[in-house]
Amino acid sequence: MHQPLVARKLDELKTAPMDFAFLRKVSYGCKQVFSADRWALTGEAGVFLDPFYSPGSDFIGIANTYITELIARDLRGEPLAAHAAIYQDLYFSFYRNMLSLYRDQYALFGDAQVMPVKVIWDYAYYWGVLCPLAIGGRLTDLNLVSELRPQLEQAASLNATMQEFLRRWHRSRSPRSPRAWLDQQDLRWFARLNTGLHDALDDAKARERLRANVELLHALAGSIGEEAARDCPALDVSALLAACGTRAKPPLFRGPARADRLLLQIA
Ligand SMILES: Cc1cc2nc3c(=O)[nH]c(=O)nc-3n(C[C@H](O)[C@H](O)[C@H](O)COP(=O)(O)OP(=O)(O)OC[C@H]3O[C@@H](n4cnc5c(N)ncnc54)[C@H](O)[C@@H]3O)c2cc1C
Repeated sequence: MHQPLVARKLDELKTAPMDFAFLRKVSYGCKQVFSADRWALTGEAGVFLDPFYSPGSDFIGIANTYITELIARDLRGEPLAAHAAIYQDLYFSFYRNMLSLYRDQYALFGDAQVMPVKVIWDYAYYWGVLCPLAIGGRLTDLNLVSELRPQLEQAASLNATMQEFLRRWHRSRSPRSPRAWLDQQDLRWFARLNTGLHDALDDAKARERLRANVELLHALAGSIGEEAARDCPALDVSALLAACGTRAKPPLFRGPARADRLLLQIA
């Protein structure tokens, strides 16, 4: 392993590494995690995404929810095959969708213009789609999942488009933005998306909320398209603006002008 910056720092501190590991290609998938033969894999024994954003425990929780439901079915003497297959499809689709937040995206993590926008998108997608299902206790609600399949698929497809767009945006610019502190709590729509996760919703309201969140993601695509076009006028943002349509676009930063967005200049 070659880590010159870490080595230099350790030299400065005149100390030896403690509990240091360097992992390449940390993400991995798995052919099967739930079986009708009464076995299941959870946590890192099954799939692993990426340490960034800390999704590890979420995915352990999601897998354990499905496994618990399969065990309960087994104890009731009910067949497992169909449910094991459906739960696994759902689990793998959550995994695939979240993986796109990381795959080929590390290069733009240091881009002070694109990365804050990516963080807003990634959180909006996570709080808007996966979290309401998980926190609202609806991961195993197959009626809801099948009813909202079109919206869930639209959101997944828009997320794939957005991740590809963010990559293209980053490649089209020379990272030159000043370092700045952006207080995302200032974005009221964004804060509401998070605090709303604790709302107790009945079945109808839960469906309404998920539909509204997917609408919001389409509107947000338009805000991101406009911001990218301001930053890089040559960039093709037509797909994002088309996804947004005539929806009212939520703000990405406080205030209209860039100077207003830099709430606290660090450097
Ligand atoms: C750098 C990094 C940062 C992370 N940060 C976060 C975070 O902030 N939040 C979050 O939620 N997740 C985070 N994760 C992910 C999280 O650590 C994992 O999702 C979680 O630890 C997986 O738990 P697990 O029980 O499946 O596997 P592990 O924690 O790997 O536990 C498996 C255990 O089994 C033991 N074992 C393996 N083989 C055998 C064997 N043959 N016999 C007996 N024992 C065996 C291992 O020694 C180990 O103790 C991070 C991961 C990494 C790599």
